Amino acid sequence: MVMKAISAPRIFDGDNYHQDAALVWEDERIHAIMPINELPADIERQHYANSLIAPGFIDIQVNGGGDVMFNNDVGPAAIETICAAHRTHGTAYLLPTLISSTPESIAKALVSAEQAVNDKIAGMLGVHIEGPWLNVAKKGAHNAELFYSPSTADLDAFPWPKNAKVLVTAATEKMSLEALNYLQQKDVIISCGHSNATASELTHEKLSKVNGFTHLFNAMSPFEGREPGVVGTALNSDHAWCSIITDGIHVHPQSFLLAHKAKPQGKLLIVTDAMATVGSKTNRFELDGQIIEVIDNMLVNAEGSLAGAHIGMDESVANVIAWGIAEQEALKMASSYPAQAMQIDNLGKLQQGFRAAATVLDDNYRSQAVLVDGQLF
Ligand SMILES: [Zn+2]
Repeated sequence: MVMKAISAPRIFDGDNYHQDAALVWEDERIHAIMPINELPADIERQHYANSLIAPGFIDIQVNGGGDVMFNNDVGPAAIETICAAHRTHGTAYLLPTLISSTPESIAKALVSAEQAVNDKIAGMLGVHIEGPWLNVAKKGAHNAELFYSPSTADLDAFPWPKNAKVLVTAATEKMSLEALNYLQQKDVIISCGHSNATASELTHEKLSKVNGFTHLFNAMSPFEGREPGVVGTALNSDHAWCSIITDGIHVHPQSFLLAHKAKPQGKLLIVTDAMATVGSKTNRFELDGQIIEVIDNMLVNAEGSLAGAHIGMDESVANVIAWGIAEQEALKMASSYPAQAMQIDNLGKLQQGFRAAATVLDDNYRSQAVLVDGQLF
């Protein structure tokens, strides 16, 4: 057993701050946070001046990175490339996200995700299946020809993983209660998204199956006085979390701040919805035969629809702090809240016995280093 440490002027452990402190870990687990001057003299330590150590960031919606789209390659090398690209932006763990695809591709992605988790690919937490059980009226950049409403027999044909987290984004109005029940029994975390449901279509029974809402405000029926839509229902469902894209393009900062006021603490979390262009030098890629390009920091398809975001987790955190959210709340929105949403109880805080995962940020909240299960990158 070898103990190692990283230290900085400030550590935020998920609850409290520590000054001039070190995070000490042993193999893959956190041992302690202690004052730098109390560290054993012979410990291997990396110090980060003018920096802050926070719980490792977790991004539950990552379509690609480092020039790779998960939709185009679900293999282990692609997953490693995506995880590595997002580490440059402070992300310790992520869920590669499959945009609406064929049942064959979904099955492959599920098998590959479980394998990658078993093989301990650094940063790999599970998989996010975003569609194709979506509403054509809110298709965004998805290929609506692939959409359908699955029967329980359709769902039973998929190789649902046992060791990898699985998050499914579905338009609940396109799902029967039986289908939602089936997913729940398979320990799938269910998020409502790309949905055009009215508030009355989001019945109490269906809502009780919904753990969260995917990229709040985007690709969902809007909030109006007479019709709360998916947005109003998401904001008013205290049990459910909402993910939100904070690039300042997908959601206006005021709408973000309003959502933050409306949701109970811990129920609004940051996702990037990043594509292949993050952590890469190129600014275009192909998805389902369509070319998607970065124009003015926006990713758009030929129809002009927003197609994911060109942003990393560290920049997303910096944005919400600039919009007026307290630093510790912004850090939790990128670490402890997504850990809770994914029902993982040993991530999201720097506590003894937790997985050794941390994100080191400089004064401008740019990522300096990332610790993943005791491996420092
Ligand atoms: Zn989406």
